Amino acid sequence: MASSNNNLGIDGLKYGMTGSCLCGSIKVVLHQDLFSKPNGHICYCESCRKSTGTTGLNSLSTTKDKVEIQDPKKMGKTYVDSATDSGRVVERHFCSNCSR
Ligand SMILES: [Zn+2]
Ligand SMILES: [Zn+2]
Repeated sequence: MASSNNNLGIDGLKYGMTGSCLCGSIKVVLHQDLFSKPNGHICYCESCRKSTGTTGLNSLSTTKDKVEIQDPKKMGKTYVDSATDSGRVVERHFCSNCSR
């Protein structure tokens, strides 16, 4: 799922982020001070490269209570991916309309 900052300045990063899927059906609000701890990472495993169509998956780890997903039309789907290089099962969430 694509994400973007409301505000591309420092304040936008400091006070959280909002984003949406490509078609805008699903919105994500992150309620977290992103400078409170370093929790981003990039994964280059084959599953992440295939799911993104790029060289790797940029991701931000947080707890569920910090993430608000708005999906009024119930477009969200989940693919349970157990073919990761690490062997850890990853839930890949996406929009059933635009696939992002
Ligand atoms: Zn969508
Ligand atoms: Zn991966």
